[in-house]
Amino acid sequence: MIIQLDPNIASSIKHKIEMKLRTLGYEANEVKTLQGSSYLVAIGKNEFDIRDIGKMDGVMDIHRVSDAYKLVSRKWRVNPTIIDLGDGIKIEEGKLALMAGPCSIESEEQIRKTLEHLKANGVQIMRGGVYKPRSSPYAFRGLGIDGLKMWYELTREYGIKIITEVMQSSQIDDMMPYVDIFQVGARNMQNFNLLDALGQVDKPVMIKRGMSGTLDELLQCSEYVFSGGNEKLLLCERGIRTYEKAYRNTFDLNAIPILKEKTHLPVIADPSHGIGLRAYVEPMALASVMVGADGIIFEVHETPEKAFSDGQQTLSFPESSDLIRKLKASHALKEGF
Ligand code: PEP
Ligand code: MN
Repeated sequence: MIIQLDPNIASSIKHKIEMKLRTLGYEANEVKTLQGSSYLVAIGKNEFDIRDIGKMDGVMDIHRVSDAYKLVSRKWRVNPTIIDLGDGIKIEEGKLALMAGPCSIESEEQIRKTLEHLKANGVQIMRGGVYKPRSSPYAFRGLGIDGLKMWYELTREYGIKIITEVMQSSQIDDMMPYVDIFQVGARNMQNFNLLDALGQVDKPVMIKRGMSGTLDELLQCSEYVFSGGNEKLLLCERGIRTYEKAYRNTFDLNAIPILKEKTHLPVIADPSHGIGLRAYVEPMALASVMVGADGIIFEVHETPEKAFSDGQQTLSFPESSDLIRKLKASHALKEGF
């Protein structure tokens, strides 16, 4: 059960509501978000007339939510969450957000060329990793905080926002001034310490689905961040590991409409990691639009074959321009159905 409180509620009035919940057999968890809302997430099983709580002083709204995740559920908040990145750049249902860039941030020249490409194609958010989770400890592991600072300076010249992966909570403070969206990578979906730490941050967080994560688990991971105090959340389908070896991951297109039904959070599709093969990133990206993704994130590089990581799934600039044109046309077509 979610009880939305008056943000200015007096603590004595809040205490009364908590006591009433306790007598009804419910444990109240208080959630105050950095975005200024105040909730009691009440956990319990007993049936009672929710109007008994709904009519109490200080209660703005009350909803019964039976799912394990509560605050991210669409059963409670029917209006989709809008992620406002400032400067008129928003991620929201009905508009297709595009995020593109290399797998890894490599050099000033690479960043500049990518920014020129994105600007020319109307893409407002650049992706790239400065902390890279790699299977081999000998592979390129990213330029770190200095690379992020350089990247940040360049993006501000172009009016483009940054999404980048944070791998551990100790990196958050240093990264904070230079990041527009923190990405939690697939390998960290259930890193609950990291999720707790991101709950204390007033910046959007995009959580990627773990390689063996169910949708319920993904939603509960986002509940960690929300209940920790940060409502600015996005989810990302990036493929799961199955027995199939013909492609890198099994891109779960099913996940997109199901997540859209279950949560009010924006759902982003990552066809690059989803299929892992350059030739098929485009059709999977277009399919993602048709099944209802609110945004697409994909990898692009001036010379994919020379990329420091994930070159095999990275589009060239001409391929990317072509994809962006088709994505926009597909989205317009879908909106007109
Ligand atoms: C990435 O976005 O480059 C990345 C490492 O993604 P994932 O966590 O989905 O593997
Ligand atoms: Mn990658």
